[in-house]
Amino acid sequence: MKLQLYNSLNRRKEEFVPILKQQVGLYTCGPTVYNFAHIGNLRTYIFEDILKRVLLYNGYRVTHIMNITDVGHLTGDRDMGEDKMEKGSQREGKTAWEVAEFYTRAFKNDIKQLNIIEPDTWVKATDTIEDQIALIKTLQDKGYTYQTADGIYFDTSRFKDYTKLSHQDLESLQEGARVEKNPEKRNATDFALWKFSPADVRRQMEWDSPWGTGFPGWHIECSAMSMKYLGDQLDIHCGGTDHIDVHHTNEIAQSEAATGNNFFNYWMHGAFLIIAGGKKMAKSEDNFLTLENAFLKKDINPLVYRFAAFQTHYRKPMEYSDESVRAARNGLVHLHNQVRQVTQNGAGQNGSVDETFKARFIETINDDLNMPRAMAVVQEMLKSDIRDGDKFATILDYDRVLGLSLDQVDKPEALPEAVQKLVDARQAARIAKDWAKSDQLRDVIQDMGYSVQDTKDGMKVIKI
Ligand SMILES: [Zn+2]
Repeated sequence: MKLQLYNSLNRRKEEFVPILKQQVGLYTCGPTVYNFAHIGNLRTYIFEDILKRVLLYNGYRVTHIMNITDVGHLTGDRDMGEDKMEKGSQREGKTAWEVAEFYTRAFKNDIKQLNIIEPDTWVKATDTIEDQIALIKTLQDKGYTYQTADGIYFDTSRFKDYTKLSHQDLESLQEGARVEKNPEKRNATDFALWKFSPADVRRQMEWDSPWGTGFPGWHIECSAMSMKYLGDQLDIHCGGTDHIDVHHTNEIAQSEAATGNNFFNYWMHGAFLIIAGGKKMAKSEDNFLTLENAFLKKDINPLVYRFAAFQTHYRKPMEYSDESVRAARNGLVHLHNQVRQVTQNGAGQNGSVDETFKARFIETINDDLNMPRAMAVVQEMLKSDIRDGDKFATILDYDRVLGLSLDQVDKPEALPEAVQKLVDARQAARIAKDWAKSDQLRDVIQDMGYSVQDTKDGMKVIKI
């Protein structure tokens, strides 16, 4: 079955046809690095990772670019409010540059823990200021910009398809957006391309430009970077659904105004995470859950969250609660046990991928990344009567998309140092045939939450 993806631009599932034959250009909007990513953000990155893995599984080569927003994102998406980086700097008593560095590292660590494949290129907004200035100059030369007291703005009334992604009614949008008052803006939907530094304040992050010292608007970075690194290969652009109305709409307007060509062909968006009780997860809310406080600190494998994300289609809001985490944890443990079983039973069999089950799996993932159905196929395959060796080969093939490290389930995990020392001491006691000491050490290790089994291949220590 050919790959079908839901395109927000046309609001329907479409067959995916890349611009070049076997090559896909993928751009995913990255984090604004003034705080930790919350698990709602991370859900979007898991969806994008599944998309990328499905493209790879279908045999495409993928060039994946992700930006790091380290300047220019104000607390209100429509150029109002405070600068997020300067705000983070005040909060933490560090420079904006240090804040950016710290949270970029934290973000990269989060996605690593979730088995998300890194982009081919990470691009920092502050590393492409010149490209952004050049793009603004092009827009100025073509007559799309005007200057106000606080910056250079894009005149949205000059771009005729402004709402082609958001499908909003432009008139009511102009009325509605008037709540955020900037009397100098010609249209409520106009947005800043370049903001001037205030005359009386020296900003930590500011640059010279043909229009005066200042910093770029948030949207311009993604247009400049995607075109710089993907060239004409503008196939798929992703982000969260909250990017549709303003950020992605403005990216399209300024990019297409500048080049006269179509910007990306496919726009895909991941839905929100809803915390039990119906609240949407956002950094401004108090229900701010990170991978660290919701999983790692509770000693829950972060891949439980990845597994949990598979239970809901990416375009539907995902419910998050202690209950759903517990269910996902049980589900993942069960899957590990099943895979461990087929590994042991199928050992020595020369297994191969079962073509019927592979076709059924492809049918689900190629149907707009339908992971809930894909997980049902995983269970049917594991419970079927095909040979265990074939089950093992098939599940490892599926895991190229699932990314759950299922090839590792039979390998004992790295033990904490304290446990490893006791294990070594017990090994020494056994070699010395000191059985009393060996038994005593086994009890101590088990009290620390590890089961100890003496098998013919040696001691096996598994976390329980
Ligand atoms: Zn973006």
